[in-house]
Amino acid sequence: MKKKRVFLGSVATETNTFSSLRTDIKDFHESFYALPGKHPETPTLCSAIYPVARAKAKKYNWNLIEGTATWAEPGGVVNQKTWEKLRDQILSELHAAQPINIVLLGLHGAMVSQECQDCEGELLEEVRKIVGPTAIVGVTFDPHSHLTEKKVKNANLITVFKEFPHVDFVETAEDLIDLVHKTEKGKIQPIISTFDCRFIDLFPTNQEPMFSFVRKIKDIERDERILSVSIIHGFMAGDVPDLGTKIIVTTDNAKDEGDAWAKELGLELFSLRGQTRPNLISIEEAMKQVQNAKDGPIVIADVWDNPGGGVPGDSTILLKEIIKRKINNVALATIWDPMAVRTCISAGENSVLQLRFGAKMSQEGGNPIDATVKVCKIKEEAFQRFGDSIVPLGDSVWIKVAGVDVIINSVRSQVFHPIVFSSFGINPYKKDVLVVKSTNHFYDAFSEIASTILYVEIDGLYPSNPKTNGYRNLSRKIWPININPHESVSY
Ligand SMILES: [Zn+2]
Repeated sequence: MKKKRVFLGSVATETNTFSSLRTDIKDFHESFYALPGKHPETPTLCSAIYPVARAKAKKYNWNLIEGTATWAEPGGVVNQKTWEKLRDQILSELHAAQPINIVLLGLHGAMVSQECQDCEGELLEEVRKIVGPTAIVGVTFDPHSHLTEKKVKNANLITVFKEFPHVDFVETAEDLIDLVHKTEKGKIQPIISTFDCRFIDLFPTNQEPMFSFVRKIKDIERDERILSVSIIHGFMAGDVPDLGTKIIVTTDNAKDEGDAWAKELGLELFSLRGQTRPNLISIEEAMKQVQNAKDGPIVIADVWDNPGGGVPGDSTILLKEIIKRKINNVALATIWDPMAVRTCISAGENSVLQLRFGAKMSQEGGNPIDATVKVCKIKEEAFQRFGDSIVPLGDSVWIKVAGVDVIINSVRSQVFHPIVFSSFGINPYKKDVLVVKSTNHFYDAFSEIASTILYVEIDGLYPSNPKTNGYRNLSRKIWPININPHESVSY
């Protein structure tokens, strides 16, 4: 039987429209950039469709045509020329690959360029024009994304990471590819239903109530008419019309049933508003707990200075507090400062020098630290892991400042794994305190070694309060800006 022609593409980043950063092609090259046929065997967060499709191609009788796959660490608005270049690159690869039966795309869903508030919607619309109405278009999204009509209209199947931390990104690609295969075989007829929950918040799924909510949607998926259920958490740092939490239910040709489930789940999730955030504490409270602690390591997450949310990740506020209080046996990862890394590399391992580092990108990140530091270890092209994915940190150094071990990196990345310390020779088990810049993705790997995990809230560049963020593009009423956003909507 003739093989089906399947095209793969991935272009992804998450845009924080409030960030002091700007994103251009260099950021994509630095984080992850694989030309056709060059995708590694390991997945990246948004490109797990590549290794999964390769593994299933023979069984499914697919002829894979791989397009470019690229990812930039979340950052500020994407330069227009960069977006157009990446978009047109993938579209021209798709054009050249025609005729195509199936398109698989690994997208994030929250990319905003200077002239486009819905980059992935635009891409999907162009993809549909090229492949026509009968080709099957399947896409994976990150839940921290914006679900638009354009995205839904031009895709046949959408799957979204269910877990936050996103430990299920490979599973999400597997689900998509299995559903696409069944569709192609005529075994199912996917129809997408959506519901706008009209709110925005944080939804870590490693704790209640979201832990149970995710188990519930997985149970619903056991019904053979319900092909897939997803929650778009939304991304509060992206000021776009469709910002907010939404539900996607894909049924096997049962639109009414899908609509009813989407509404029911959406309103149930809305009823949990205000209860889903982690327990965020102040810096004073965290320091008090650290000083009274008996067991280590205590893991402190600097929740809002998370490069994975598009801010620079160079705030010095927490580090200064630790130094001021003379807290011993602490390691912190990471502070992004390519200039400081370069200076330390020039100075060499074991050298002691006067260094200015951190807080270069915004006044909200505090002030740079001026101190005498020791360069303990230099690592060129350092990396860490997130599940099977290898995440670059660029050239990086371990410095000691006022007794605190600090990792400074040159390629921005949030902290996922204790390897961020151990690869430099710091034993994370032996530290009393580990400070990580991450909202929740650190949780999976760090919970295995932590005695306690503290989520610390420090006001910074990240727009963490929707009520005061001053959105200009939001098109609907949403909680918590509006107390009852469903009031005037008829369902
Ligand atoms: Zn995410």
